[in-house]
Amino acid sequence: MKISPTIEQRRILDLGLTSIRVRAGAGTGKTTTVALAIANLVEAHGVDPEQILGMTFTNKAAAELAESVSRRLPDTIDPSRQVEIHTYHGFAAQILAEFGPLVGADLRSGVITPTFARQLIRDVFYDHGHEHLDMTSRHTLDQIRKLGDQLGDHLLRPEDIAKAATIHGDDETWAARVEMAEVLDRYNRAKAELRVVDYSDLVTLSTRVLQEHPALAATVRDRYQALVLDEYQDTNPAQRVLISAIFGDGFPVIAVGDEDQTIYEWRGASAENFEQFIDHFPTADGSRAHDRGLTLNRRSGQGILEVANEIRRRANPLADELEAAEDVATEIVTYWASDALAEAEWIARQFEALHDEGTPWSDMAVLFRKNKDFAILIDVLGRHDIPLEVANVGGLLSVPEISFLRAWLTVLQNPEDSTALAQILFGSSYRLGIADIAHLTRWLTSNTEDDIDSDETHPVTLVEAIETAHLIHALTPQARERLDRFHAVYRELLVETQGLSLAETCRLVLDHTRAWQDIESLPPNARLTARLNLYRFLDLADDWSPLSGRPSVAAFLDYLDAMEEEPAEELDSARLSGEDAVTLVTVHRAKGLEWENVAIPAVAKDNLPAKSGAFPDPIRFPYQLPIEFRLDTSIGELPDSDEGRRALFRERHRAQEWRVAYVAATRAKRRLFVTGAYWYGLPEPRVTPAEPSELFDLVETHPASRSAGHADVGPRPPILAAGDTEGAPDPLFPDGWPAALRLAQDDPEKLDEVAKSVGVADEYRRVTEEWSERLFALEDVPADDEADSTAAVSVTGLVTYAQCPKRFFWTDIDPLPRRRNLAAVRGSEIHRRIELHQRGQVPFDDLEPDLYDVIDENVGPGAYETYERSRFANRTADFVEAPFTFVLDNGYKVRGRIDAIYTEGRSWEVVDFKSGRPKDDPSRMVQLEAYAVAVDEVDFAEDKPSTLDVTFAYLGGGLDEVTARADPEWVAKARLHLETLTERIDAREFEPTPGQWCQTCDFLQFCDAGKTEVAT
Ligand code: SF4
Repeated sequence: MKISPTIEQRRILDLGLTSIRVRAGAGTGKTTTVALAIANLVEAHGVDPEQILGMTFTNKAAAELAESVSRRLPDTIDPSRQVEIHTYHGFAAQILAEFGPLVGADLRSGVITPTFARQLIRDVFYDHGHEHLDMTSRHTLDQIRKLGDQLGDHLLRPEDIAKAATIHGDDETWAARVEMAEVLDRYNRAKAELRVVDYSDLVTLSTRVLQEHPALAATVRDRYQALVLDEYQDTNPAQRVLISAIFGDGFPVIAVGDEDQTIYEWRGASAENFEQFIDHFPTADGSRAHDRGLTLNRRSGQGILEVANEIRRRANPLADELEAAEDVATEIVTYWASDALAEAEWIARQFEALHDEGTPWSDMAVLFRKNKDFAILIDVLGRHDIPLEVANVGGLLSVPEISFLRAWLTVLQNPEDSTALAQILFGSSYRLGIADIAHLTRWLTSNTEDDIDSDETHPVTLVEAIETAHLIHALTPQARERLDRFHAVYRELLVETQGLSLAETCRLVLDHTRAWQDIESLPPNARLTARLNLYRFLDLADDWSPLSGRPSVAAFLDYLDAMEEEPAEELDSARLSGEDAVTLVTVHRAKGLEWENVAIPAVAKDNLPAKSGAFPDPIRFPYQLPIEFRLDTSIGELPDSDEGRRALFRERHRAQEWRVAYVAATRAKRRLFVTGAYWYGLPEPRVTPAEPSELFDLVETHPASRSAGHADVGPRPPILAAGDTEGAPDPLFPDGWPAALRLAQDDPEKLDEVAKSVGVADEYRRVTEEWSERLFALEDVPADDEADSTAAVSVTGLVTYAQCPKRFFWTDIDPLPRRRNLAAVRGSEIHRRIELHQRGQVPFDDLEPDLYDVIDENVGPGAYETYERSRFANRTADFVEAPFTFVLDNGYKVRGRIDAIYTEGRSWEVVDFKSGRPKDDPSRMVQLEAYAVAVDEVDFAEDKPSTLDVTFAYLGGGLDEVTARADPEWVAKARLHLETLTERIDAREFEPTPGQWCQTCDFLQFCDAGKTEVAT
């Protein structure tokens, strides 16, 4: 499709093959301009498409750019000729893949994600004691990682910190910083042992390749004639150094970005890169790069742009003014409510009115500055029967279905978590009351005390107390029945989730708690909301699970905790389902998206613009990189005084917050609602009413907006009041528990004395003895060779074992870290889409991996499109993602999940969808064997099938089916085969059986047999 460039775009194209900085304001067609510039280089300057290199941030952006470019290339160009487009990290990875060994990098190094990196840092952190770091604070790990990220962003190594520390004597900040650097050094060694690298390493190591071997820069540069950089304002200094080491010497570079949308400074983006581009990337004759601006906005009406321009000037007084391309009416309304509930009600009513006029729900969005503000809006909009899509993990955690699932995961992981347990018991499935729980806890306490001399085991947790609910006479029969029901589900889940992947665990919880059935019974809009949110969460669990071999629920729960806090780890734009639902998302995740109607709530003082928790002052905080280490210099000299530094960082923070507000306002096309309220609830209880923020005042008083008024300020509604967080005074420890603990650490006898002084010496002794006994009765973890062999195995495990027992050993028995398998991620995406389709949902438009900087992925042929054209898409499966467990005669439990079962009378077909192409690998048949035995063993329906077919449907590169008729003889053989395999597992036969599969085996780097196979 050809479109005519605007005058502004024409001015850029006319510059031709040279270095240009393009300042593209919000909504000015940045991607179109990049695509036009590339097409222009091909058409007007004879540059070969494959000699143009493009870089952007995410895989999704790279795919969109490639698509946009190919649409604009001249028709005379063979469509198979493609511009080379990478993510920034993907480009670095390519250099490393090619030249890495020159700096000692293993060519087969896997790339670990930030979450896995965190786990590895945690491991090395707790391996050692620390004198200057607080090992009890969960923030310490984040701080170490923050320092590590900054070292990477500025091409430094931990030893650089240690070297510099010598001149700082016994400065406490430096002492802690050195300890952090020591942890990071151990982390680097751990990565080397595992032969993995993290994202920072990609840039650091590839830059080192070029610095130590400058001739290679020319080798890379000579492959291209032009470089186009997208979203350049979000690059960090290390990325800039890498790019300029190759292309910084008069090579034609076009950088497109918007300095006023730099909202990721806190994670390393350097506004200075964009500011100084014209000096960093001069033209061929050595003069400064050209500078052009784009101001014609194709998204929003003029009224909204006038407000946005005003906001933008607060961050950057010299910014260009945006102008609307079309003359369309806009509406900007402000409202100040009495409290957060009334504010949400007001937004709900505006949305309802718009919907009544024919506006789809999907044309509306609510943008939040902070995750904490999601919950009330979710609740109130839900009560108005408005379908919602919560597009942030942080926000998702407030959704009832997700919080219920999270509570179950928590209880399965830690039965002592009584908060999570209470959440389940008080919920709609069990509907217990506080009185019931009180009976349980009372019984728990009294039973423990009374029977201390008996040999019986005493319950110590609520879950254990529930197990003995039949003994608690105070409970009503109804409560007892519900507790029994809960306990049965709990036991089942506890057994069946052993060894399951995280995503499988989530699914099993949803199945066993009948969550899907509950969702089916909801009214249509609430049902859609619940499904969308659960699918998003399952996507997250799927995407998260392959990162560290056997994924741990505990680590996932930690990750969710981290997601709840600010700032969120989610960095890329949200991807929406395309369903007709209102989007709820943070401003950071809304970058790059747009809606007709946008509401921005909680525009209160210190909330938006947000107040900074702690300024990044390197003099005070060890995790902040000292200024003299930074590659960018725009901060300049730091003032000596605390107040001077505070003022400096406050101003920088303020500018960033106004940029966030600018991003928020420019998401709206036609209508913008800006709201706030006097009273907000937990977790930020206020004593005095909130006040409108500077942003609210700006919008409210702007001539383009109208005010819907301010409600009267009343007292804080009780529902938004902070709970009583003060514990009752403790007669034994008036100074509090932490003080008592310190006392006991210093002198254990002291507590005896305290107990004696208040007359509870006997009780105290009895309790301490009891707990000591419990402690010493804990069994040692059995050594590896004494550990039980696994008595349960998944179908995937059996297939792996049939292929190569050693691979199974390293996957399931003694798991080694595994690299993220993009083919598997893609496979699971396609399964999710098929599942959505079969459950009667429109599939998600886009289920690319939810990571910011995934290395370039080879996107295969349209597997989902193949499915859509296949005989399977038009039939409704009777069972979708059907879980099963059966026990073989040798006692081994086999569990799995069948993609789809289609029935026609008593003729059944079990189908397993594969996203790839058929492979000549007999071990795969084990999967169909297990499915056939499952159908024989498990009561999927009242009647067993009279005929059963088991099918692999390969969707990669066109439909290819492999089907077997599973008659009784076939099933008997299959059963025998499964028994043989499990008996061999039990006998610990784990010899490698190398084959073609070694090529893609995660463990090739550890496996001599595999290496020999691949070498031959
Ligand atoms: S590399 Fe080959 S032989 Fe070695 S564990 Fe992997 S599949 Fe088995």
